[in-house]
Amino acid sequence: MLIESMTREASIDLLKRARVARLGYIHDGQPYIVPMLFAYNVDYLYSISTAGQKIDWMRINPRVCVEVDDLVTAQQWETVIVLGQYEDLPHTEEHETSRAHAHALLQSSRPAWWEPGYVKTIVGGKERPLEVLYFRIRIDQISGRRGLPG
Ligand SMILES: Cc1cc2nc3c(=O)[nH]c(=O)nc-3n(C[C@H](O)[C@H](O)[C@H](O)COP(=O)(O)OP(=O)(O)OC[C@H]3O[C@@H](n4cnc5c(N)ncnc54)[C@H](O)[C@@H]3O)c2cc1C
Repeated sequence: MLIESMTREASIDLLKRARVARLGYIHDGQPYIVPMLFAYNVDYLYSISTAGQKIDWMRINPRVCVEVDDLVTAQQWETVIVLGQYEDLPHTEEHETSRAHAHALLQSSRPAWWEPGYVKTIVGGKERPLEVLYFRIRIDQISGRRGLPG
């Protein structure tokens, strides 16, 4: 097999096709990764969440890493890594346009687009407040690799 780098255009094409990403962030020197659904649009990845650890910690340290992949076989695959910056899209006048844009984009991305980012969540027997938080990752750097059989 052969491994080669992907162009920025091909990397963006995977971001458009992929739905599940791995979102990596760091708190107190400890890296964390969670699966996340997202929608891509011009230099940003958009998603939603309820309040919790990853939101609290990305607010403290907004530098994040996102990985997406299309794994067909061990020889045939594409992976893209994005380095970027977490940004809240709160319910404020300043962010209303971006928030509406995120909503429209996520809604057109798939049916039941709010699951599992915004669902009843019980952790340690305690139900958390169900308030939707919109956020986006600004793409600062992007790289792609692909594996080809033969
Ligand atoms: C396919 C898929 C798509 C998802 N899409 C989204 C999305 O778009 N938006 C969204 O907010 N969430 C999404 N989730 C859920 C997400 O991965 C987190 O589980 C969730 O957001 C809670 O994260 P938190 O930091 O708020 O955790 P908290 O509920 O605050 O709990 C933190 C603690 O729980 C552990 N923990 C948290 N999540 C997981 C997990 N998935 N597996 C194992 N341990 C965990 C952490 O290690 C930590 O110790 C998705 C999950 C899957 C499987």
